[in-house]
Amino acid sequence: MALLELKELNKSYNSEVQVLKNVEFTVNTGEFVSIIGPSGAGKSTLLRCINRMVDIEPGSVYFDGQDVGAQSKKELRKLRTNIGMIFQHYNLVPRLTVIENVLHGRFGYKSTLQGILGRFTEQEKQNAFDLLEKLGIAEHAYKRCDQLSGGQQQRVGICRALIQEPKLILCDEPIASLDPNSSKIIMDHLKKISEDLGITCIVNLHQVEVAKDYASRIIGLKQGEVVFDGPSPLLSIDK
Ligand code: ADP
Ligand code: ADP
Repeated sequence: MALLELKELNKSYNSEVQVLKNVEFTVNTGEFVSIIGPSGAGKSTLLRCINRMVDIEPGSVYFDGQDVGAQSKKELRKLRTNIGMIFQHYNLVPRLTVIENVLHGRFGYKSTLQGILGRFTEQEKQNAFDLLEKLGIAEHAYKRCDQLSGGQQQRVGICRALIQEPKLILCDEPIASLDPNSSKIIMDHLKKISEDLGITCIVNLHQVEVAKDYASRIIGLKQGEVVFDGPSPLLSIDK
């Protein structure tokens, strides 16, 4: 079943440069898709259009049967809880502990920065802890995020996305700041999440080899246009 459908999607930040040109594709529930393309191709912009962090026009994005462009602010808030985001620079709140960052993903700021944990129920905290355990970083739960390595911080980012129980996870260059070893850990986790939990993943990558290793389907973007869309093995190496 189609979870996401993009129809003639166009985006320009100002009238001169068109960043996305008639982008069209459909992603089914459970798919693991990688979007590849050179820097500036429009990969980040494409993800931002999907959860409407930027407005699009003309064109449409349908997520789970809903027209993303037609949502009110309130509806959009709800819709976004079904779409987890993972970023190159993790986007954690450095002064908060690991577990607070994870809970923040679900509940936002329930309070001032002090004493956040006290605002959550035992069950909520347990859920966050379980996720940290799953990602192998439970021992760091009460450390401040800025004391963790990049790879560990990205695992916190994954937990923060997962606590919302999203249907879709959008990953914008999740391993671009990581060494090969940490990159492998992150990609293995994403793949496992997709397989075990059936969560649909769209992962922006500039490393073609990584995309081929992990994604079952690759979408190639070049200057805002889809130039390839198919099973990973069909992508020629010299692309
Ligand atoms: P990629 O993720 O493939 O590197 P981006 O989506 O980040 O590509 O960028 C595509 C193009 O859009 C680039 O030319 C970039 O300079 C431009 N761009 C991205 N964000 C903005 C913005 N907020 N305002 C203006 N131009 C932008
Ligand atoms: P604000 O602070 O502007 O009131 P929040 O940052 O708390 O709003 O976000 C509102 C909702 O949108 C939350 O459910 C949050 O998970 C979601 N959200 C916020 N930023 C993003 C993002 N970059 N990608 C996806 N969802 C997001």
